[in-house]
Amino acid sequence: RARSQTDLAYAFADAATDAQVREQIQLETELHRALEREEFFLVFQPQVALTDGRIVGLEALLRWNHPTRGVVPPGQFIPLLEETGLIIPAGEWIIDQACAQARVWLDTLPGQSALRIAINLSPRQFQSNNLLEQVKNAIKRYHIPPHQLELEVTESLLIEDFPGTHQLLSQLDTMGVRIALDDFGTGYSALTYLQAFPFHAMKVDRSFVSTVGGSRKSEALLRAIVQIGKSLELEVVAEGIETKPQFDFLRNHGCDLAQGFGLAKPQPPAEIEALLKNGYIKTLLS
Ligand code: C2E
Ligand code: MG
Ligand code: MG
Ligand code: MG
Repeated sequence: RARSQTDLAYAFADAATDAQVREQIQLETELHRALEREEFFLVFQPQVALTDGRIVGLEALLRWNHPTRGVVPPGQFIPLLEETGLIIPAGEWIIDQACAQARVWLDTLPGQSALRIAINLSPRQFQSNNLLEQVKNAIKRYHIPPHQLELEVTESLLIEDFPGTHQLLSQLDTMGVRIALDDFGTGYSALTYLQAFPFHAMKVDRSFVSTVGGSRKSEALLRAIVQIGKSLELEVVAEGIETKPQFDFLRNHGCDLAQGFGLAKPQPPAEIEALLKNGYIKTLLS
């Protein structure tokens, strides 16, 4: 019997799905091994003051050095780490590694004693029941002043309504650790979250930053977002700054910090060290 077009379409779809499923299973197996084989590593992206270009903080970003695929970006494996629960041991490793690296920089670079390290946390890590321990341990082990550690969370964590979330964030706040709301504006953006949780910083998502030079309405929205952050006495960080007009717009509208490829890409520690020795990134200033 000749197959109808729909049959064929289904057959192709099935084949595609099979291949995807096989690929997922393969990746999962490899992810299990990645931690013990030390295939994960961290890169760091500077956050600079919009006023003078001073490097104020560094965001740790996870990379996977896959034996055959090379370096895999987090978008391709963090969802899998989350689904499999591997994000919990991996997350503990990330917290430890980032703090260990911070200690090296604090010890070896003069004039960097106030440097901050930012670490991304998945919602899943908040259900691990020892996230607080993990943070406390790392702070103690590497003598990191708590206010020099920032934990980035997204709105998806807040809407999940996990009962422990608010308490955990408050405990971290009491310890002196900073909490940043990452990717602001992309989630549900219920503005009530901003005052219900102990945030110190708001990271404005790149999708808003990239509208600079576009429509007046989208620029007005970006301006309004920065104003909301400032009104709530949050430090406002613009993500994904790539151009001088974006940099200027955000500086002129009272944003505090900027992060983006236009300033510096995420880089391994050795290259970050060279930037830190200078202390400033002035490429988009003047
Ligand atoms: P994020 O936390 O919002 O991190 C910012 C992402 O934007 C990074 O992508 C960074 O490389 C990218 N970026 C920075 N500046 C620019 C720019 O000017 N233009 C463009 N196009 N992109 C820019 P990356 O490293 O691929 O990470 C993607 C996401 O994966 C992160 O978004 C974060 O949600 C997640 N992630 C990364 N590392 C970790 C981690 O250690 N733990 C957890 N739980 N999530 C992580
Ligand atoms: Mg982040
Ligand atoms: Mg972000
Ligand atoms: Mg993001």
